[in-house]
Amino acid sequence: MKREGLLCGGQRRHGAGICHRPAGAGTSHRGRGRCSWHGGASPTHEAHDRRVLAEEACAQLAIPVRTTAVRALRDELARVNGVLGFLYAQCAALTAAEMTSGEWQRTTATGTDGETRQTVVTRAGVNVWMRLLEHWSQRLTDVAAAMARLDIDRQAAETGRELGGRAVSALEQALDGAGITGVPRLRVLQLLAAGDDG
Ligand SMILES: [Zn+2]
Repeated sequence: MKREGLLCGGQRRHGAGICHRPAGAGTSHRGRGRCSWHGGASPTHEAHDRRVLAEEACAQLAIPVRTTAVRALRDELARVNGVLGFLYAQCAALTAAEMTSGEWQRTTATGTDGETRQTVVTRAGVNVWMRLLEHWSQRLTDVAAAMARLDIDRQAAETGRELGGRAVSALEQALDGAGITGVPRLRVLQLLAAGDDG
């Protein structure tokens, strides 16, 4: 679909020049494409418009479009759900100490007695599983929102958005469960928001 700014731009049937009605006037895609007098309301045009929108949504989410954009969004929703299921399990198994500290460095040395010893250095920061859970729940929400906008699998999209919201409360519950409140809790949330490597 050509983008002629905010006008329809279709060839006038009576008289010279192009149509100056607003783009998509009288169609389901107001603001984009031809108006209803110039083919904008035809099933082909409407289908084309949905495809353009889906491709734009995919580009924004950086999903590779292998088959169709609609198909890619469906696949992505399934993939993100799978990743989140795994991450829930990882986060549920964390202890309070593990939640706020991450392994930073692991060194192996052989002592004078010939014994091999491992030194593990940890430092304060949000556990990588929790950071990933937060990242992927945001992605689930984004994919589901794109699907809802395009009216793809409305049911699946709504469930996806719900799950995205639930992932955020799972994070809150994980913090509750570990007894992380007050300043440390704010620190955890701050680190998550900043994408700090901890
Ligand atoms: Zn027109």
